[in-house]
Amino acid sequence: LVRLRARLSRSQNVFGRGLLSVLSRDHLDEDAWEEIEDSLITADVGVEATQVIVERLRERVRVLGTRTVAEVRAQLAEELTSALEPDLDRSLRTAPHDGRPAVLLVVGVNGAGKTTTCGKIGRVLIADGRTVLFGAADTFRAAAADQLATWGERVGAETVRGPEAGDPASVAFDAVKRGIDLGIDTVLVDTAGRLQNKVGLMDELGKVKRVVEKHGPVDETLLILDATTGQNGLEQARVFTEVVDVTGVVLTKLDGTAKGGIVIAVQRKLGIPVKLVGLGEGPDDLAPFEPAAFVEALLG
Ligand code: GDP
Repeated sequence: LVRLRARLSRSQNVFGRGLLSVLSRDHLDEDAWEEIEDSLITADVGVEATQVIVERLRERVRVLGTRTVAEVRAQLAEELTSALEPDLDRSLRTAPHDGRPAVLLVVGVNGAGKTTTCGKIGRVLIADGRTVLFGAADTFRAAAADQLATWGERVGAETVRGPEAGDPASVAFDAVKRGIDLGIDTVLVDTAGRLQNKVGLMDELGKVKRVVEKHGPVDETLLILDATTGQNGLEQARVFTEVVDVTGVVLTKLDGTAKGGIVIAVQRKLGIPVKLVGLGEGPDDLAPFEPAAFVEALLG
């Protein structure tokens, strides 16, 4: 958490800066409220959520007769934290059960950070004493399987891959089977995100899931979402939630954006908890998502 805070505060944060300048005004006039609203929208909280948050904050300030900047800031922090639904279950099901590995499907559009996130999750689990196996079910780009295999070597996980342009579902099936045969704890299946239309995506991801389920249930389906793509990325991501039963979101590239407010929009619009955040390209740049610490980092 300390690391999360440090990393986020090092990133350029319009949100924090904007609010600080607003909150250093003498009194909260209409201009100040507008500026608070603008800075939330600039941070990608989303228009609808911003209106709700500001409305609630105004009501609080009125009822409590808040005067000082520090008090307003504390109340805004509470509103933002509550908008992040701190009570959601954000645990990741990675433990083997019923004599078989936990199986995680990793989905999302190309470039969102799927392969990198597989590598980072593998790293965390292996550091924890678990055994991990990767399945390279993104068979459309040869480079994708190479990249995953490189991560595998780096963190100490075997990678199961198929022939180039082969059937993704059959790679996924083989990976889980090998995981069962070897008594592996966790199998992470990296999928292709090249599909732009919903029918193709549904066909392919649906098939991957069905085939994997021949071995037993999928434990987690993680949607990887690039925080820098903002509200547009969110719309794209929605398609995945319609196609597969997504159990958690990993929000990547939060290190390179002032738009951390997207977390609020993601949970609100997709109704799925953000479980992890990506804070860089390195193997250790992954952190559990913790609302209160996140809001502190956001407010600067
Ligand atoms: P995929 O196509 O979804 O598998 O995406 P990749 O894992 O190949 O990632 C695409 C690019 O984003 C790569 O250059 C990664 O190094 C980079 N990347 C992934 N996660 C993060 C992150 O949390 N922060 C930053 N700064 N870059 C990231």
